[in-house]
Amino acid sequence: MELAITNVLALTMRDDRLGILEDATIGVDGGRLEYVGSSDSFDDEPERTIDGDGRVAIPGLVNVHAHTDLTLLRGGAQDVPEIEWMNRALGPLSAAMEPADRVAGARLGVLEALRSGVTTVGEYTRDVERLLEDVYDPLGARVVATETINAVGGSTDELGPDEPYPLDEEQGWAALDRNEALFDACTDRERATALYGPQALDMVPRALLEEIRDRAETRNRGIHMHVAQGEREQRQIEARYGADETTVSVLEEFGLVSDRLLAAHLHGATAEERAHVADSGVRMAANPSSIAAIDGVTPPIVEYREAGGVAGIGTDQAPGPGGHDFLRELRTTALLAKTKLGDPTAFPAWEALRVGTIDGARTLGIEDRIGSLEEGKRADIVLLDLEHPSTAPTVTEPLHTAVPNLVYGSNGGVVDTVLVEGEVVLEDRELRTAEEGTILEEANERAADVFARAGGTWLDADSELVGAVEDGWL
Ligand SMILES: [Zn+2]
Repeated sequence: MELAITNVLALTMRDDRLGILEDATIGVDGGRLEYVGSSDSFDDEPERTIDGDGRVAIPGLVNVHAHTDLTLLRGGAQDVPEIEWMNRALGPLSAAMEPADRVAGARLGVLEALRSGVTTVGEYTRDVERLLEDVYDPLGARVVATETINAVGGSTDELGPDEPYPLDEEQGWAALDRNEALFDACTDRERATALYGPQALDMVPRALLEEIRDRAETRNRGIHMHVAQGEREQRQIEARYGADETTVSVLEEFGLVSDRLLAAHLHGATAEERAHVADSGVRMAANPSSIAAIDGVTPPIVEYREAGGVAGIGTDQAPGPGGHDFLRELRTTALLAKTKLGDPTAFPAWEALRVGTIDGARTLGIEDRIGSLEEGKRADIVLLDLEHPSTAPTVTEPLHTAVPNLVYGSNGGVVDTVLVEGEVVLEDRELRTAEEGTILEEANERAADVFARAGGTWLDADSELVGAVEDGWL
């Protein structure tokens, strides 16, 4: 056996509880979990031992939905009205990014995710294959990659909200070709799988969406799509498909409401639609910080789960909600759910930990490989410090206070060690697979260039953030 983590408090997520094991040992060999059980019954002699005393081991956290390349634009688009966020705040900055800027942003985003205990990212961007090569392979994180298929051609700035976006068919089909190449790129990678990525119903033409549906069916692949994102999208759907239609009703006609679909957001769907979608096996990616920051809305993750649906949590993008610290996101999810429902019992700590691990894996369709600490699964393991000012003290009687302390007290700063596929990616809080200083330096330099290039356009777009600059706030 290559490695064993001993004397650790383990939250295994086995069965339908947290699978709490005191004084556990976790044995790893060949990238897999070979032993998960009591230290007393462990009789192997591993090549290497990590003493887990004072720490808690959990399965690697699963961020089901993120556009990490936009991390380079952190701080450039928040505190603006929803209608301005995409086109007047983020848009001018995003348009100024070159491919290498996107790579630098993704490196920073994935670094932040790993540092917060994330071992799997549901990455969603254009030319995502490049991120596999330049970001995920070298850093060592697991990825479920989605290629963005978006056919919106040209600027939408001058359009009224009820004028449908102009669609460029060729651009959409070229993106589908890239998506197909992505599936090939994932076949030789142990840590990467792929999904189809039609960005949203208002951003792809009908024929293209039907083709994606048919290919997903015949090739047995999943579809990851932004669904029912709110009023802007709803007005586009009415303009394109008719006044009585909604995103969900049109997707239903297309035959896309099925267990093949991973739907990001869903806050624009009605309660009846949500219940139907959940019942049909659609998996939901809820992005609480992002939707709070951009729309002022709490996504219906509690309601979706109560309707029987499978849901995971994503961080979406850094500009707006702030970033990819997943432990912070678990806390935000819980607190927003409690205030939205006026119910302090909503989304308790144990539910947050299940949703952040095994349910996240189910949401991405890879629960046979990750999401729990069970023999035979891949060795994606995170050790968190229980002797940290934000998690201490912890007791095991009469309750395990590590469970609430992890969700309500911690942040990425408590993450001590991260293993992906049995490889030590982070140890003693230090990244082992790349130079963290170089990643930060490159991000700083490239961000300065992008903001400088975009500066004039960003100011001309005159969002409320520009007003704040003029008033001396920023
Ligand atoms: Zn998104």
